[in-house]
Amino acid sequence: MFDVQKVRAQFPILSQTVNGKPLVYFDNGATTQKPEVVIDAIAQYYTEFNANIHRGVHTLSQLATDAYEQARNTIQNHLNAKYNHEIIFTSGTTAGINLVANGFAKFVKEGDEVMVSALEHHSNIVPWQFLCEKTGAKLVVIPMNEQGELRMDKFEKLLSSKTKIVAVNHISNALGTINPIKQIIDKAHKVGAAVLIDGAQATPHLRPDVQELDCDFYVFSGHKVCGPTGVGILYGKENWLNALPPYQGGGEMIKEVTFEKTTYAELPHKFEAGTPNIEAGIVLGTAIDYLNGIGFDNIAKYEQELLDYATRKLLEIDGLKIYGTSENKASVISFNIEGIHPYDIGTIIDKLGVAVRTGHHCAQPIMQYFDIPGTIRASFAFYNTREEIDIFVEAVKKAQMMLT
Ligand code: PMP
Repeated sequence: MFDVQKVRAQFPILSQTVNGKPLVYFDNGATTQKPEVVIDAIAQYYTEFNANIHRGVHTLSQLATDAYEQARNTIQNHLNAKYNHEIIFTSGTTAGINLVANGFAKFVKEGDEVMVSALEHHSNIVPWQFLCEKTGAKLVVIPMNEQGELRMDKFEKLLSSKTKIVAVNHISNALGTINPIKQIIDKAHKVGAAVLIDGAQATPHLRPDVQELDCDFYVFSGHKVCGPTGVGILYGKENWLNALPPYQGGGEMIKEVTFEKTTYAELPHKFEAGTPNIEAGIVLGTAIDYLNGIGFDNIAKYEQELLDYATRKLLEIDGLKIYGTSENKASVISFNIEGIHPYDIGTIIDKLGVAVRTGHHCAQPIMQYFDIPGTIRASFAFYNTREEIDIFVEAVKKAQMMLT
C-alpha cells in the first residue's frame, strides 16, 4: 500500500506555509522537492568525507572517490546500462545534450539532416541548431497533432538516409505527452540514424531501460528526481562515446599531455573534465535509491490517479481548456481559462499557497502551435494529494472570479 502521508513526512519543505497558507507544491516539472535522506546525505558528505576525487592517495579522497563511483554504479543499475563507463556525470540535461550535439559535428556534413520534434524543450532544440549552423545540416521537425502527440506517420516519411540523429523527449514538459520512443528508436535505427532521448521529465515518473529501448543516448537531471541541482547524467552506448570527441578539455580527461599532443583518458573520464559536483553526484545516487525504495510502479499508479482526479475537477470549470490530451500522459496538466492571462492566475493562486508554473515552459514552438502566450502548468509528484488538488481547484475558481 502506498502511504502518501508517510511519504510526505519525509519532505520537510512540504509542511511549511506560504503566504500564510499551507504550501501546495505543483511545480514538480520545474524541480522536485528533496526528502530528508537526500538532505542528510548532502550534510554527511561535507561533514565526513569532503575531498577531491580520483586524485589523492589520502583516505578522505579515497572515501569520496568510492562514494562517487558507487553512485555511478547505482545509476548504471537503475538505467540497466551494460557498462558503468557508459554513465557520464554532467551538470544536467542541458549539458548532456550540448555535449552530444557538439561532438556530433564529426558525423554530420552539409545536406545531412538532424531531427527533433515539435514537442521539445528549448534545450533539445538550440544545441541542434548550433550543430546545423556549424555543419550546414538541416533541422527537420516531427510535427504534432491537436492532442499534443507526435505525428508518427509524418515521422516515417521524414526519415531517410540523410537523417543522422533524432533527438526527442521521452515525456513533454509542457504537455505531459509520453512519446512512443521505442518506435522512434527502432525506425530511426533502420535508416542508420542515432537517437538521443531527453529523459528530463520521464525519469521522475518511470524507470527507463536503456538496453531494452536500444537508445544511443539518454539524458536527465538530478534535481527533477529528488536529487540536487548541478548534476545530471548522460548515458551513451560505449561505441558512440568512444567515437565522439571530448567536449571540454582540462584535468581528469587526459591520458598524457605534452605541448605537441594530448591523448585522452578512457571512458567515462574523457567526458568529465575538471572537478565535478562531487556532493551532487554522490547524492544523486541516494535520490535514485530513495525513489526505487518507493518503487516506480507505485509512483506511476498513484500519480495516474492524481492526474485523472485533477483533470476531472479542472474540466468542471467553465471556459477551461487543457492542452495536451493524449491518453499517454504523465502527471502534468497545462491549461488556460478563456479571457485570462496565465500569469494572472499563477500570481493569485500563489497568494493562496499554490505553486504552479506559468508561461511558455521553455517550449515556445508548442505555444506557437496553439497560438497562445503560455499556459498554467500543474505538475504532480508522488508526494502530492487529492486534498491539495481540491485546494488548487478552489484557488483557480477564486482567481477566475476575481479576474472576470
Ligand atoms: N528537457 C526537458 C524536457 C525539461 O523539462 C528540462 C527542464 N525543464 C530540460 C530539458 C532542461 O533541464 P535542465 O534545466 O535541468 O538542464
